[in-house]
Amino acid sequence: MFSSSEELESLRATVRRVARERIGPRAAALDAGGGPDPEVEGLLWELGLMTLTFPPEHGGVERDQGTALCTAVEEIAAACASTALLLVIQAVGSFPILHGARRELLERLLPRMAGGRELVAYLVTEPGAGSDVGGLRTTAVRDGGEWVLTGTKCFATNGARAGIYTVLARTSAAPGREGLSFFAVDRDSPGVSIGKIEKKLGQRGSNTAEVILDGVRIPAGNLLGEEGKGFLLAMKDFDMSRPAVGAQALGIAEGALAEMIGHARQRRTFGEPLASHQMIQQILADGATLVEAARGLVYRAAHLYDRGERNTKLASMAKVFASDAAMRVTTDAIQVLGGYGYMQDYPVERMFRDAKLTQIFEGANQIQRLVIARELLREAR
Ligand SMILES: Cc1cc2nc3c(=O)[nH]c(=O)nc-3n(C[C@H](O)[C@H](O)[C@H](O)COP(=O)(O)OP(=O)(O)OC[C@H]3O[C@@H](n4cnc5c(N)ncnc54)[C@H](O)[C@@H]3O)c2cc1C
Repeated sequence: MFSSSEELESLRATVRRVARERIGPRAAALDAGGGPDPEVEGLLWELGLMTLTFPPEHGGVERDQGTALCTAVEEIAAACASTALLLVIQAVGSFPILHGARRELLERLLPRMAGGRELVAYLVTEPGAGSDVGGLRTTAVRDGGEWVLTGTKCFATNGARAGIYTVLARTSAAPGREGLSFFAVDRDSPGVSIGKIEKKLGQRGSNTAEVILDGVRIPAGNLLGEEGKGFLLAMKDFDMSRPAVGAQALGIAEGALAEMIGHARQRRTFGEPLASHQMIQQILADGATLVEAARGLVYRAAHLYDRGERNTKLASMAKVFASDAAMRVTTDAIQVLGGYGYMQDYPVERMFRDAKLTQIFEGANQIQRLVIARELLREAR
């Protein structure tokens, strides 16, 4: 029912092999150096992983795009969460373009985003508006045949690296989430500048930047979707991206579980392998159970998305459960490795730092719980 088709199994097998052999061995260096790693990125493009959610003629998979994205993200995140984030943000950033651009704009941007290998960044968050998207202040004002964008966006993944931005801005005086619209903005446009590059706790191999828009003029045709309906487009994007962030968390948890099982079998205390002590066995059993439960939620949410069914509740459940599981499993992995787990020579230290982000971005976990409750109450009506 979930990822049982032959193509998906073949995708999983290929990505798993590449992640283990070619991405995992470079993860510590990527984390230490702050990225990017051109060799790894080239590999992602060559394998078609950066375009999984694109139209098939531009490198996308024919069907089950949400499941395919989760599959690739999960397998890569087990080896390197920062690299998996590249896939997630390319899909998230390009979504408003793929689902909102007029034909002419799409024909112009798609070749750049696919064959041209340009990164797309998603500029929604602002210093005064994270969870509360309705608080955003960036404005887009119509001036003849152009829109003029002014504001400051923060925490943009690949903000300093992308060639194309999808920007959510206020197009009317309507309060809150009303009156927001998406735009495609060229990084090279006059008035675009890069501000602070963030130094982060985890997923350090990814770029996180402030992007300043100072009277940036773009053609009227760069509006994505309907004017004033940007928030709805963002919500549709979440239906795809939240399972994908869940898949990233799932992969991190799987990576940590494998590390702790390996260590527990090999390390001896009191004359026995750690794995023979029942309290350690309990940690392994609980971790494996969380991983299996997270997998079920992530692929169920992705499956509903692929069938075009409403998955908002499941997408939030997948994101919240898998990210909480990743935090728990990576914390336990450090415990099982003891002092070694605390050292940077062992990957669980990085996995623990990487896991934390999955509880925060793409809607922090408190917000996911609000969404789940809202959907439950809506269904009960
Ligand atoms: C590394 C990184 C990469 C990111 N990449 C991107 C990106 O590419 N594009 C982009 O647009 N954004 C990006 N973000 C931003 C991210 O989505 C926001 O940080 C996130 O949505 C939370 O917003 P905030 O940081 O402003 O926290 P706040 O909204 O200030 O929330 C702070 C805390 O309060 C909680 N909270 C808020 N409101 C409520 C409430 N009503 N009830 C209960 N609890 C509440 C939140 O859950 C959170 O724990 C990124 C963030 C990080 C850290």
